[in-house]
Amino acid sequence: MDKCKVIAVTNQKGGVGKTTTAVNLGVGLARQGKKVLLVDADPQGSLTVSLGVKNPDELETTISDLMQIVVDNGILSPQDRGILKNIEGVDLVPSNIGLSSFEVSLVNTMSREFVLRSYLGTVKRDYDYVLIDCMPSLGMLTINALAAADSVLIPCQANYLSTKGLKLLLGSVAKVRRQINPLLKIDGILMTMVDGRTNNAKSIIAALRSTLGGSVRVFDTEIPRSVRAAEASGEGKSIYTYDPKSRVTQAYTNLTKEVAELGKETNRSRSDGAR
Ligand code: ATP
Ligand code: MG
Repeated sequence: MDKCKVIAVTNQKGGVGKTTTAVNLGVGLARQGKKVLLVDADPQGSLTVSLGVKNPDELETTISDLMQIVVDNGILSPQDRGILKNIEGVDLVPSNIGLSSFEVSLVNTMSREFVLRSYLGTVKRDYDYVLIDCMPSLGMLTINALAAADSVLIPCQANYLSTKGLKLLLGSVAKVRRQINPLLKIDGILMTMVDGRTNNAKSIIAALRSTLGGSVRVFDTEIPRSVRAAEASGEGKSIYTYDPKSRVTQAYTNLTKEVAELGKETNRSRSDGAR
């Protein structure tokens, strides 16, 4: 049985906390003893930098090279795998600006939606979780991430425009489910950079919960706004290492528990289905 769960951390809106969530959820799961692979699917390389790689443009092998080998029908030997090992307990498939031209070239490729899925198929047996940090667009790389994923986790800021943008995203997930990945689930929406002191944030979150009703989970955990989160990524560290006692660390610890519980539900329903 496939024990690995692939989660795409996605939102086409920029700057909502996708990368911060991928890093801190990934490291959080690793601290629970899980084997975790983080995949940087953004040409900005923010995940790569947030995990302490100083110059992504100097890396010899990145995600675009690995996906190109798949496109060329090449065999991925262990040396080609290009995975950076054990950074704060997680492994990383790094990215850099080269991914941008690769995305353009994908348009003329056969089975262009499934290249990342094919690549992950060669490595995921080594992991309990693969988290894909998506770029802020609904382009071909994000479609590749959604095609490769078992579920999506959607960071969202508590403001009016962000919650409006969710409709577009949920529509895209539904379309991917209809056309290329029928088993794709939504793990939930994660409210990020929440300013607990403002009533505006509180009322927006309450309105979102009631609009979505029971159809899509909004995680109980909310990530507070704190400059410590921004400082940690600037230092190339997870929040657990940078400031173990901060409110953001506590919040990501709580999120990790919620996500680990979901993993169990999925396994249970999968084995029920197999019976
Ligand atoms: P992009 O769409 O560009 O990939 P993103 O959705 O990945 O952005 P992040 O890079 O995680 O978003 O976060 C955007 C900015 O906000 C970063 O500078 C990050 O350090 C900061 N940030 C993230 N989480 C928090 C938080 N809880 N409190 C304060 N600042 C935060
Ligand atoms: Mg990002």
